[in-house]
Amino acid sequence: MDTETQTLLNDQHSKPKQGLSLTNAENGVSFDPSQFQPRVRDRHISYGSINGAVPLPENNRDPEMPGQQAVVFRRLPQGMLSTLSSEFESLDYELCENKIFKEEESKKSPGSITKQNATRWVVVFFIGVCTALIACTIDICVVEMTKIKYGFLKKYIEKCVKENCLYIPYLQWLGISCGFAILASVLVTYGEPVAAGSGIPLVKCYLNGINVHRLHRLKTLFVKAAGVTCSVLGGLAVGKEGPMVHSGAAVAAGLSQGKSTSLGFDFGILKAFRCDQEKRDFVTGGAAAGVAAAFGAPIGSGVLFSLEEGSSFWNQNITWRIFFCSMVSAFTLNVVLSTYHGQLGILAYDGLLNFGKFPDIPFALLELPIFIAMGIIGGLAGALFNQMNYHISVFRRRFILSRWAKVLEVIVVCSVTVSVGFIMIYFVDDCKPLGAKDAVEFPIQMFCEDGQFNAVAAMWLQTPEASVRALFHDQPGTHNPLSVGLFFITYFFLACWTYGLSISSGIFIPALLSGAAWGRLVGLGLYRLTQGAAWADPGKYALIGAASQLGGIARVTLSLAVILIETTGNLSLGLGLMLTLLTAKFVGDFFNAGIYDMNVQLAGLPMLPWSAPPMCHGTQAQYIMSKPVVVLKEVERVSTVISVLEDTRHQGFPVIFEDRFSGSQAKQTSFGVLRGLILRSQLKILLKEKPFCSSPTGSTRPPIPLETFRMYYPRYPAFEDIHFTEEERASYLDLRPYMNPTPYTVPKHASLHRTFQLFRALGLRHLIVTDDNNEVAGMITRKTLARYRARICCGAIDFVELPLGGHGVPP
Ligand code: ATP
Ligand code: MG
Repeated sequence: MDTETQTLLNDQHSKPKQGLSLTNAENGVSFDPSQFQPRVRDRHISYGSINGAVPLPENNRDPEMPGQQAVVFRRLPQGMLSTLSSEFESLDYELCENKIFKEEESKKSPGSITKQNATRWVVVFFIGVCTALIACTIDICVVEMTKIKYGFLKKYIEKCVKENCLYIPYLQWLGISCGFAILASVLVTYGEPVAAGSGIPLVKCYLNGINVHRLHRLKTLFVKAAGVTCSVLGGLAVGKEGPMVHSGAAVAAGLSQGKSTSLGFDFGILKAFRCDQEKRDFVTGGAAAGVAAAFGAPIGSGVLFSLEEGSSFWNQNITWRIFFCSMVSAFTLNVVLSTYHGQLGILAYDGLLNFGKFPDIPFALLELPIFIAMGIIGGLAGALFNQMNYHISVFRRRFILSRWAKVLEVIVVCSVTVSVGFIMIYFVDDCKPLGAKDAVEFPIQMFCEDGQFNAVAAMWLQTPEASVRALFHDQPGTHNPLSVGLFFITYFFLACWTYGLSISSGIFIPALLSGAAWGRLVGLGLYRLTQGAAWADPGKYALIGAASQLGGIARVTLSLAVILIETTGNLSLGLGLMLTLLTAKFVGDFFNAGIYDMNVQLAGLPMLPWSAPPMCHGTQAQYIMSKPVVVLKEVERVSTVISVLEDTRHQGFPVIFEDRFSGSQAKQTSFGVLRGLILRSQLKILLKEKPFCSSPTGSTRPPIPLETFRMYYPRYPAFEDIHFTEEERASYLDLRPYMNPTPYTVPKHASLHRTFQLFRALGLRHLIVTDDNNEVAGMITRKTLARYRARICCGAIDFVELPLGGHGVPP
């Protein structure tokens, strides 16, 4: 649409008539929100980068710096991979301080506030306990079933080595693994697609303010937990730790509400927590409890991972509660698993992933450059991994669309994984003596001499967690470089292919395992080079390699360093780990985004990054706002409200003072004196509850209590199911007690940067733009803002405006 057409359209819709959308509806003009996109795109003349600056059009120039050359956002064409999905609605993290809320607050006593605070801690305690119990269930199932699976295979492999029938255990291995993999995939593909992957990108988006449908349902939680158990048992290159974040978040979202909409029961408790803001804080705690259970490290994984990777909003109160929740979760897991393994009172099971303690290994100064070099390798390998995974994901989104095709892909990947493992066990001759120090769970002799076992078979025929531990702690001579090298190459590519399949799966373990493999290779090299110097411990280098690889893929630094320090109990490695992780992150970031952010982009999730695009101080709010604005009067006719909801898909409507069109305006640039903001969800409840009145001056009846609004949260009545009589349509709805009377506003000359800061810091969903007379001039939503991006890659910045539309497929 060119500028003139757009201006024409705007003019057409901005004639001073009663209720914008209503008049459109009355005239039979359907209201197409896509026509009212932000102004910047219409004024784009060409693409400008920071160096090749293109002057902004006259009307977008900063009045205070008329000669200033500024950023122009290049509008990307509509396309699946560069489109923000309009499927995902935003959450309302802003507290609606309306009349009914204030009335309720005024009745509160200091005692009730203390009680509410104490209740928060109790809820957080139960979130920690329940999350840990889920983690324990997953772990015990995996451990027990793995014993049966690999014990059975070991028996047949050893029998068939002698009887020359190795194809039988191969087929058995294939059959068992594919069976579990099919189950894992069917659960997700046909049961609950939102449970696919680790769920970390989706939880991250939820915490950023995006309402991802079905993310916290009970069914999703079940599919996630059962699915990840089956994926691990299927022998796929996945871990069970990442999905614990999603499980914890789902537990928190459910427990904190005191009701289950899926099961249709309401305990009638915790009603005060039934709003997006409170729920978000609990979900942050739940996600932290999930990671804490996974790694048994409450500080690093619980608090810091949430801070670094998950959360978008943080405050001191949240810090204490998250720490408490993580501690409870890690402690409960430890108690339950220790009891299960017959060590009650010893508390020896720190987390699902137990790295094992590292004895005090000396740390030499000359190792620092080696750590940096390993960080560079990890960053490069991580960027390569992410880039390959991106292309595989693009392929999947284009060609693997039907559900059966997704299940088939899982079968193919599982078959290839088993076959590669079997070929390596068969052909790579890596015999090691059975030593007491190497804790090999299923030592298989294969073609080795008596008293020896095949080290390659030991790597494949155990859980990936056990393989990571083996690479960290086995004696220097246990693994031969050829088998470790081959294992790394195969596992790296398999993990890349596996991540993004239609199964529940985590990336932590595959990343750590492939990193541990190449790290151990580095360690073996140094060990030989220095003829067994005490500092050149291959296990230590396996740990650094693992950290570097995960840092390169997920770009987590601070939390991962602390997780590894906490779980290995070795503080002296802290500096080395930090150096490696920071280097890996910087190197990886130079080429592409981290795996989670890449997933978010691919799914078109409108996530707001931490900071505004650089150099956007010259772009004004008036050029990105939507107008004409659909507004409602303080006391509005019911038929008008119905038409507005029917004809538009907007989620928020400024409420204006009645005589908003006073004064002469040739071209309408303002839409009335602002009185408040009302949400679509509130209007739906009001239309359902029908507190209508007959007078246009307002209602004298007491308003609907806040409790009714909480009762509907989070699933609001379907508008189509509400029926109105003619009399009801002709009556009035007094919006004053329910609207937010003090919504955030921004002057139209405010910069894009400032606007962004407001959204990001306050968790806003809507921002009303006002003109010089303080009247409504336009509307900005968080999704509108999320469209303006600065893509930084290989030292260059690309300013883009993403189109809206399409159907985002959750990662
Ligand atoms: P959300 O996730 O909250 O739905 P959104 O950007 O999709 O975010 P909508 O309320 O669905 O917001 O509105 C869609 C488009 O219409 C956005 O570009 C927004 O700026 C614009 N818009 C929102 N509310 C109004 C309104 N009351 N009048 C005019 N335009 C509006
Ligand atoms: Mg919308």
